[in-house]
This record gives sequence, structure tokens and C-alpha cells, in this order.
Amino acid sequence: MRDRALRAIAECKLIATMSEEPDRITRRFLTQPMHDVHAHLRARMVSLGMTVRIDAVGNLRGVWRPAGAGAKRLILGSHIDTVPGAGAFDGVLGVTLALEWVELAQQLELPITLELIAFSDEEGVRYGVPFLGSRAVAGCFDPALLAMTDSEGMTVEAAIRAFGLDPALIGEAALDADAIGFVEIHIEQGPVLEAGSCSVAAVSAIVGQTRINLVFSGHANHAGTTPMRLRHDALAAAAEWIAAVEALAQGTEGLVATVGKISVEPNVGNVVPGVARVSLEVRHADDSTRNTAVSELLAKAASIAKRRAITLERNGQLEHPAVPMDKRLTACLADAIEATGLPMKTMISGAGHDAMVMAARTPAAMLFLRSPGGISHHAAESVLEEDVEASLRVGREFLVRSAKEIG
Ligand SMILES: [Zn+2]
Repeated sequence: MRDRALRAIAECKLIATMSEEPDRITRRFLTQPMHDVHAHLRARMVSLGMTVRIDAVGNLRGVWRPAGAGAKRLILGSHIDTVPGAGAFDGVLGVTLALEWVELAQQLELPITLELIAFSDEEGVRYGVPFLGSRAVAGCFDPALLAMTDSEGMTVEAAIRAFGLDPALIGEAALDADAIGFVEIHIEQGPVLEAGSCSVAAVSAIVGQTRINLVFSGHANHAGTTPMRLRHDALAAAAEWIAAVEALAQGTEGLVATVGKISVEPNVGNVVPGVARVSLEVRHADDSTRNTAVSELLAKAASIAKRRAITLERNGQLEHPAVPMDKRLTACLADAIEATGLPMKTMISGAGHDAMVMAARTPAAMLFLRSPGGISHHAAESVLEEDVEASLRVGREFLVRSAKEIG
């Protein structure tokens, strides 16, 4: 397995050279370097005897159907687009490892049909909307998305045509009814596995999230002549609330809450702040826990504003429900982890992934690999050889179990 692990890592490093920028990794939806990645992965798929096609949103898809296997297929995959200045492993490792899983299934002569999908867009960098690739596969690609434009004014539709594809055929990208499930292998992109000294974990759910913007409006006034008791300081109110946001999240198991953005008016050193605009983002794997936390935080903001005699407005509320992973597939992954002698571990994903979109169409599961330093979306992103090897041992056990279930 060590050779396979080294190959999966080396492939990621090679694919990392296929970039829009010379000095760093940037590969957005349907840009030129994606052709290069396709050419490389297609050759690997063909050498494994897979039937390869590119669907109408630019997902590269290879199918391996061994003699005697039924049409029912297990889908493997992850994304091959990146954020600007990315690391080499986010998304791509899930594809290079899936190629190894296919070869393992072949060597074990498992009667299981596998489809490997390299999704064209997960990060949403080019058009500001993520999951363009998996939306099409899940059969929920809204045709209105075709009219979106990138920073150069090119529509999604034009980008698809420029890539040599036909946007009229997007409907055909949707998974056939014979798919029995989807498994995504991905780096954790956080510090949890490292903190627990674990190589891998099965993901039990992807968190839901709420985003809200709040505006605290007080009175801007002279910082020298306005006594403290006569002030209506919008920033001080926001600051008091931000501390409450942190305290609530610290006291609630599994909750993360973040005020990541603030703007102050007039933002001048000798003027009492008149307006503070802040963002709130709250995530949890359980929707009712998240909703309760959001209600509490809004009530807290209202009471702080009232006591300080300033006004509070909220706008732009955005909600994404949590997405539980499929219990049966996840249990199968967890069994496989245990069977390899690794500590059995399931965890919550705090970030969105293609598996979240795919879950709407087919049972979905995820296998996370430890992220050294918790670092991702950065050139310093890395993986440990031993973890990649562990994920391959888990893969072998998982495939054997899946083949039995399908057959
Ligand atoms: Zn990713």
C-alpha cells in the first residue's frame, strides 16, 4: 500500500503544476489547466480499463464495470478545481485515491461497478456559486446559473461552450437510477484528527449554517466633548455582543459562531462610532441547536442595543440545513476503519463538500484524512504518507464490504 500512497501523493503534486498562475496553484471552473488535468486523469482511467466521458458541466467521469457485475454502481469522487493560491490536496487527493481504490477493486476481482467523478467546480471561485459540478450530477443544476458571469463578463454557458461542451446536455449529467451511493475521500481541512492523533475518520454529518448581518446604529459624536454616560457608541455595543457570541459558542457542544466582518462609521479615531455593521455565521450539525443559538444571539443583540439606546437592524439572513451522511454507508466506512486496526472515529464536517450536494440524489458518505497543522486552502497544505496509506487500507476493506452488499 505504501507505493500506492506515494503514487496518490505524487499525482497530486503533478496535478498541482497544472495551474492558471505560474507561481501558485489556481484552477478555476473550466479554465485551460482543467483540460490538462482531464488529459492526465483520462489517461490514468483508460489505463485502468475505465470508460471515460466528460459531461456537459465538465465533470470527468470514468466507469469500471467488471465482467459479471450488475449495473448498480458505487460512485467515488471529489473536485479538481481550487481556490486561488491553493494547496495540492484539497479535492484532488480524493480523485487520485479513488483511482487507487478502483485498481484495488480490480485486483481483488470484486464484482462491483465503480464510477469515478472528478468534479469541475466545488469551490465556486469563478462564478461565486459553489458545486456547479455536483449540482449537475445530483440533477439539481438550475438553468438560471448558465447566465451568471465571471469577472471578465463570460457567462457559464459561454464557458461551457468554450471548453468544447454543450450546455443543452446538462440534464444528461444527472446520475442514473442505478447509483447505489457516493463516497468522497477528502482532507479534513481542520485540526480535529490531528488533535486526536487519528489518521482518518468517517464523516457523520456536514454542518448546517446561518448567516446574518446586523447593523448597530448609535450616534457619532465628538470623542473629546461627549461624556461616557451620554454616548450611544455603536461599536462598543457590537463589541459587547461579539464577546457574547464567542461565549455562547464556547459553552455549546459542537457549535461554532463567528463574527468575521465588521465595518464602522465614520471609522475615525476621534469620533464616537455611529454605526457598526457586523456579520454573524453560526454552524452546527443539528439544526435545532443552531436555530436556538441564533435566536439567543439575536435576543442578546436586541437587549444590548436597548440598554444602550441604539437601534438594531438585521438583514440578509441565509440558511443551509445540516446534511447527515447516509447511516449505512457511514457505518460501512466506520467498520472498515475498525477492521484495519485504526481507532474508529466519526466526526462532523464543518465545511461544505460535494457529498453534501450528492446526498440529495443518492446515499452519501465521506472519509476524512488528517490535515497536518489543520492547514488548507494554502500552499502549505499537506498530508502524511501514513494517513494516505491508512485511507487505502480502509478503502480496500470498504470495497470488499460494499461488493458483498451490492452482490
Ligand atoms: Zn475540497
